[in-house]
Amino acid sequence: MATVDRKAATGTLTPAQALALAGAALAPRREGPTRVVVLGGGFAGVHAAKYLTALLGRRTDVEVELLSEENYFVFQPLLPEVAAGGIAATHVVNPIRELVPRARFRCCKVSSIDLAHKRVLVSQGEGLELVGVPYDHLVFCLGKVTSFAMMPGVSEHALAMKDLSDAFGLRNRVIRCLELADIEANPDAKRALLTFVVAGGGFSGVETIGELRELVDRSLKYFPRIRREEVQFKLIHSQKTILPEMPEKLGRAAQEILEKRGVEMVLGARVRAASREQVFLADDRSIATRTFVCTVGNAPNPIAKHTIAAGGFQEAQVGGRGIGVFETDAMLQCVGKPGYWAVGDCAAIPSPSGKGFCPPTAQFAIREAKACAKNVLAAIDGTPMVTFAFKALGILASLGQRSAVAEVFGVKLTGFVAWVLWRTIYLAKLPGFVRRLRVALDWTLDLFFPRDITQLQVFQHKRLDIHHYEPGETIVREGQIGREFYVVLKGEVEVLQGEAVVATLGAREVFGERALLEDTPRTAAVRAISAVDVLVMSRGDFRSMVTSLPVLDDYFAKLLRERHPDAMKRDAGSPSAGVATTDT
Ligand SMILES: Cc1cc2nc3c(=O)[nH]c(=O)nc-3n(C[C@H](O)[C@H](O)[C@H](O)COP(=O)(O)OP(=O)(O)OC[C@H]3O[C@@H](n4cnc5c(N)ncnc54)[C@H](O)[C@@H]3O)c2cc1C
Repeated sequence: MATVDRKAATGTLTPAQALALAGAALAPRREGPTRVVVLGGGFAGVHAAKYLTALLGRRTDVEVELLSEENYFVFQPLLPEVAAGGIAATHVVNPIRELVPRARFRCCKVSSIDLAHKRVLVSQGEGLELVGVPYDHLVFCLGKVTSFAMMPGVSEHALAMKDLSDAFGLRNRVIRCLELADIEANPDAKRALLTFVVAGGGFSGVETIGELRELVDRSLKYFPRIRREEVQFKLIHSQKTILPEMPEKLGRAAQEILEKRGVEMVLGARVRAASREQVFLADDRSIATRTFVCTVGNAPNPIAKHTIAAGGFQEAQVGGRGIGVFETDAMLQCVGKPGYWAVGDCAAIPSPSGKGFCPPTAQFAIREAKACAKNVLAAIDGTPMVTFAFKALGILASLGQRSAVAEVFGVKLTGFVAWVLWRTIYLAKLPGFVRRLRVALDWTLDLFFPRDITQLQVFQHKRLDIHHYEPGETIVREGQIGREFYVVLKGEVEVLQGEAVVATLGAREVFGERALLEDTPRTAAVRAISAVDVLVMSRGDFRSMVTSLPVLDDYFAKLLRERHPDAMKRDAGSPSAGVATTDT
């Protein structure tokens, strides 16, 4: 789940840069069991690892390692309810280690796939060291990412609905808007604060707006200066009927239910851009709002996209255009690439119906993972593989306020009955008995008590930090991937290459710029000589500042020339830092 392009801005390496950094320096692979490495801890990855380890039982000739950026699995279908405060955030997540206790787990960011040496390059640990994880079989379960790159301002000003922080952030934003609107004297500003806009009429957009409506309705009694008719909800959708994943009749039914509750449908419209205070549509209309949730903008995972291009994998095509996901055969193996498998949203798997590809849903990802696990072991053991076959059991969307639309085993349902079915099914699907119990309890309490309107501020990051170091402490390690830029505020530091001191720096001098500007690993270490305070700026902020201000760009270009005259002359292209290979 995803990695929003906001994360890319905080600056880790691109797949190509990681490969270049890794170079050929490679610790020899240890002999040992056949290694199956699963990439991604979402529906597909967790289930693939779970089924694989279950099938392996006590076998020790095969080991399974799961790599994921977060150490928890998110049950995405319940995120809109978390955003609306109906379920506590931690109740829809499970620690991956608890879900797949028999697989190894590595919390890390996959940076690239080194196909030539059969290793996954990951950045891990506090220093984000680049490490190679060897594999014999590789299962891609990396999902998709959210990218708002085609809509200016949307990355900066919209909220997504893809992971826990999005849901948590949205809930806080809504409560904050209600607080501000309650004391706002200017009618235009108040209207914008009370206008809630969601883009995307698919499942996540529809469920999000339905839940938002419920949250606001149930919170208004605490805000005496806000009248119900002052609050507006708008759902922007590019087609004429919402929920295109469902039969049209159910999409229209959902539309009617939401409209009756005061959700305005802005149909046949596309978002062009967003600013802090407005959403701009392609047809030149604009909507003043302070809460904009954008559920459109699914993009290929950059690791999948790069691997497909660099490794000659077959990319799935729709309408003659590549869609950035691995095309597999009916056995879930990447077409023409034995030992490489793909499951879930980053894969295009031929639909068992014979028409097109399987839909990118959790329901399919789980079944695909199961078939893939069987086939990976069949490939290792040289036994026959199974063909993926699954027919969706049904399709459901919750609309909040005790209503939903559903089609189960061909029967179409709307309203309260569909809602009860929705809750029953999702409760049953939630992994872990304790989580199920907690969600059931949340839902029961929610029937009788008001929503919690506490506005938590845990995600308010400081843009700049001050770190303190005592004499002898290392601030930057040689070979690390650069994450931060530093200004010495107080004290003195020494710059070391190996054991040799190459410079000392004092107050108002800077360090850490090279690795950030050139995407190289740290070429020197920095150690505190005295007690030191340093101002620390993140890689993303530093790079934005330098690229936006020519005066800083010039300053750092000059500084690099002065500090590294030899490297500058050498056309600093190919850093020689190696990558550790690990099977520990
Ligand atoms: C709000 C919402 C509601 C939904 N409702 C439903 C529903 O009701 N029913 C349904 O069937 N489907 C639903 N879906 C769709 C469903 O959640 C997805 O189809 C499913 O999550 C796909 O699983 P996946 O494992 O392929 O990808 P994901 O769940 O996206 O998992 C990808 C994993 O890869 C990891 N990853 C990615 N890149 C890297 C990297 N570089 N390094 C390390 N790790 C990485 C991520 O951290 C994540 O753990 C919903 C989705 C959303 C967002």
